Amino acid sequence: MVSHNIWLRDHCRCSECFHPVTKQRLVNTFDIPADIAPLSVESKQYGLEVTWPAPAPHTSIYPWLWLQEHSYDPPARPKLENATDPEKVLWGSNIAQNPPTVTFEEAMTDQGLFEWLSKVDKFGLCLITGVPPTTEGTEKLSERIGFIRETKYGKLWEMTADLAMGDTAYTNVALGAHTDNTYFTDPSGLQLLHVLSHTGGTGGKTLLVDGFHVAATLKERHPESYTLLSTVPIPAHAAGDDGGIYQASPKSGYPTLSHDLVTRELYQVRWNNNDRSVMDHLDPKIVEEWYEAIRIWNRLLKSADSEYWVQLSPGTALIVNNHRVLHGRSSFTGRRWVCGSYIVFDEFKSKLAVLKERFDPDRVTADTRDPSSGSSVWSPAL
Ligand SMILES: [Zn+2]
Repeated sequence: MVSHNIWLRDHCRCSECFHPVTKQRLVNTFDIPADIAPLSVESKQYGLEVTWPAPAPHTSIYPWLWLQEHSYDPPARPKLENATDPEKVLWGSNIAQNPPTVTFEEAMTDQGLFEWLSKVDKFGLCLITGVPPTTEGTEKLSERIGFIRETKYGKLWEMTADLAMGDTAYTNVALGAHTDNTYFTDPSGLQLLHVLSHTGGTGGKTLLVDGFHVAATLKERHPESYTLLSTVPIPAHAAGDDGGIYQASPKSGYPTLSHDLVTRELYQVRWNNNDRSVMDHLDPKIVEEWYEAIRIWNRLLKSADSEYWVQLSPGTALIVNNHRVLHGRSSFTGRRWVCGSYIVFDEFKSKLAVLKERFDPDRVTADTRDPSSGSSVWSPAL
């Protein structure tokens, strides 16, 4: 494992170089001489101790495990083989036999909240049973995770068949599997849904599809189509009511499948063919191939092996990672009243990271945490 001297000096996390409370860099990176070299380097049990020369002599200690986990030469995090984090559980229709579930009571405790969010992280969805069948109960549940994201549909949105909202979601027709907010620069991260009542009719089953699982299948069977869905941006819009015309920035939009630039990990699926705008930016040479790619993608999404159908009833809420799991519903009759909320993905990740630090810290954090605050300047998030 090799590190450059300037990199080591810049990453010193003593209290002069890195604020132990605010967790912000204090060292003036631009004062470090480009050719800085250590006066001495010592191997201690705890970590690597490096003493630096002028302007003021300075000693830095880097925990061994932290150095290993953040090595860039060779890289500690090699590119993924199959585009998804191996800790995530990809699923198909068979998840119906044992869907991830927690109770409302558990979600109200910190340990239970950690279990809930860990399941969402792993599976991209989770059912919550025993929820008060009211908008207030649903709001209370949502706010356990973080701020609710207000949109043109409201904070806690409520949905009955009502075309005034300018969106087919507010009718009683069937909706194919899609992700929400493809027309936003930052589509809502989590969506919480709760059927509060359904009277005088039938239908309205909820459809869920693991976009990461379908993407993995596409990559394996049709790698060229996977590449097209990963590179061709799709513009989208929401303009169904008089009050707004939404489209994502930049104007060309985002590809269906977005990947981490370094690890190549798939981190976001965006798909709603109904909200797609004009595709006037396609290279003429790939027009037919692109239509073939989305035809294959659509076929895989609609395969019976991919679809998880669940009849939600009052008291059981569902939370979905809208950056991974596509949702839809069957048509229905009668009066169906659904409420829900959107939560920004960063809120979810932050809450999960805080709870993980407390209930299941990684080894570096566990070894180096400050006993008074329980946090560590060597936490993997920093
Ligand atoms: Zn320092």
